[in-house]
Amino acid sequence: MAEPVPPTRSRIPGSGLAKGLAVTLRTMTKKTVTEQYPDAQPDLPPRSRGVIGLFEENCTVCMLCARECPDWCIYIDSHKETIPAAAPGGRERSRNVLDRFAIDFSLCMYCGICIEVCPFDALFWSPEFEYAETDIRDLTHERDKLREWMWTVPAPPALDPGAEEPKELAAARKTADKLAAQRQAEAAETAGTAGTAETAARPGSRTEPHADEQVRAAERPTRPMGESRQQTDQPGQEGRE
Ligand code: SF4
Ligand code: SF4
Repeated sequence: MAEPVPPTRSRIPGSGLAKGLAVTLRTMTKKTVTEQYPDAQPDLPPRSRGVIGLFEENCTVCMLCARECPDWCIYIDSHKETIPAAAPGGRERSRNVLDRFAIDFSLCMYCGICIEVCPFDALFWSPEFEYAETDIRDLTHERDKLREWMWTVPAPPALDPGAEEPKELAAARKTADKLAAQRQAEAAETAGTAGTAETAARPGSRTEPHADEQVRAAERPTRPMGESRQQTDQPGQEGRE
C-alpha cells in the first residue's frame, strides 16, 4: 500500500527574497573581522606558538628535549670538557659543551613538549611566525637562529598581587645587590687611595678638602653604582655561576 504524502506548506510569494535581504542587512551592520595581513600585523595572544627560541646559556645539554620530542626533530651535538680543580688536591670536573642545537620546523608539530620538559628554562615560545621558506632545508634553524628568536620572546605576565616572588628572580636580585655593593666598596677604596696619594705628594697640603671643592664634588654627576650591570646582565647567567 502506498505511503500517505504529507501536505506541503503553502509559501507566501517573495518570502525567500525577504529572508535573503534580512540576512544581507544583518551582515552589513556587523563589524568586519577581516585581518588586513600582511599590511597590518595580527594582534596575537601572548602565549601564541610561533617559533621556539633557545637561551643557550641555560642549556646543560641534558638531552631531555631531544629524547622527549615525538617528531625527533631536535638535533644536539656536544663534547665533554674537563675543568681543572679549583684548589690544589681538589677533583677535576667535567662539563658538557654544546656544539650544535638545531630544530627542524618542517617536522615540528608545535606540541611544546620540549619546552615543558626542559628543566633549565632554555627553550621558550616566541609568537613570531613569519619564517616560511621556499627550500624545506632552510626550515632547520641552527643555534644562532634559535638564539635570535629568543629576543622576540615576550616578557612573562605580571605576578598576581600578593604572589610569592619566583626564586630565580630573588637569586638574580641577590647577586646584583652583591655586585653593586662590591663595586661601591672598590670605588670607595680607589677614591681613598687616590686622595691619600695626592695629599702625600703635596707638601703642607690640607687633609680636608676646601669648602668650594666639597661643593664642586657634590655637583659632579655620579653614576649610580651597579645600575648598568643590573641592566645588562642576564639574570639566568648570574644565578648559574
Ligand atoms: S614543539 Fe614538539 S615537535 Fe616541536 S620540537 Fe618541541 S617537542 Fe618536538
Ligand atoms: S632539555 Fe633544556 S637543558 Fe636539556 S638539552 Fe634541551 S634545551 Fe638543553
